[in-house]
Amino acid sequence: MPGKDEPFARAALIGIGLIGSSLARALRRHGLAREIVCSAPTAATRAKAMELGIVDRAFADNAEAVLGADLVVLCTPVGAYAEVAAGIAGSLTPGAIVTDVGSVKQAVVRDVGPHIPEGVHLVPGHPVAGTEHSGPEAGFAELFVGRWCILTPPAGTSPEAVERVAALWRALGSNVEVMDAGHHDKVLAITSHLPHLIAYTIVGTATDLEAATQSEVIKFSAGGFRDFTRIAASDPVMWRDVFLNNREAVLEMIQRFTEDLTALQRAIRWGEGEKLQDLFTRTRAIRRSIIEAKQA
Ligand code: NAP
Repeated sequence: MPGKDEPFARAALIGIGLIGSSLARALRRHGLAREIVCSAPTAATRAKAMELGIVDRAFADNAEAVLGADLVVLCTPVGAYAEVAAGIAGSLTPGAIVTDVGSVKQAVVRDVGPHIPEGVHLVPGHPVAGTEHSGPEAGFAELFVGRWCILTPPAGTSPEAVERVAALWRALGSNVEVMDAGHHDKVLAITSHLPHLIAYTIVGTATDLEAATQSEVIKFSAGGFRDFTRIAASDPVMWRDVFLNNREAVLEMIQRFTEDLTALQRAIRWGEGEKLQDLFTRTRAIRRSIIEAKQA
């Protein structure tokens, strides 16, 4: 295997939306791949990626895109992984590294793992960075700078392959952490998946209110609602797939959240101001820690 700091000969990005196109831009800027190709089912997406000049070639067929690639990155919604992996399996080059950017990680081993041929290395990854926008125009090269990228290699993965992927993300400006896929899915269920679900719920509740109240919701949204609408504007397909593919961990967090919400409901009903103030004081400290960790 080439050295960990050597550029890849050809990087194939399967899917070229927010994350894929950010990766394409960043790979190019840092000279980490001599050739960058992509695939996407929609002709308009492929044309846009070419027009933006972020890839050298764009294919409709995923299998064609991975031919001769020593780095393959799945950048599609997680629900497409099984079909994508089955489609590219026969065209992967021996020695190639297959990685991904999906927001859930156990599903990668389950859906992609069985299709990876002998001699090809699977190193699942998740850049914990994003925005509520989608598509090739939404990406930018700096997206990963100062953010974490979590790698979840299954037991027995070549350490050199893991190190090459880790070196790639570090070169893009990310901090890298390696962890077990199950642990990743639990942590992200509370830090990312549940907050998105809550945002979708609040905004959904508001859209069910009678028309007169709805217009007030928009008018006075700066009271807090506005911040939820940003999160609730995130890609519907991507988030559908996150919840369907991290079911157990998300259901567990919803259960805990529901219990805590009920406790707050009770505190409000019984006028237990001290309980409310205690919680709000503790949560304020969490915000401070995030700012100190430069993750704000
Ligand atoms: P996106 O902007 O909607 O882009 C998805 C891309 O996948 C599009 O180019 C789409 O092509 C392509 N695609 C869909 N099905 C495909 C298939 N079967 N074969 C090849 N390409 C296919 O989504 P994104 O936000 O970049 O998310 C991509 C992945 O990154 C997801 O797994 C998500 O969990 C993960 N992620 C997202 C964020 C975030 O904040 N958005 C953060 C971290 C990780 P068409 O345009 O032709 O449909």
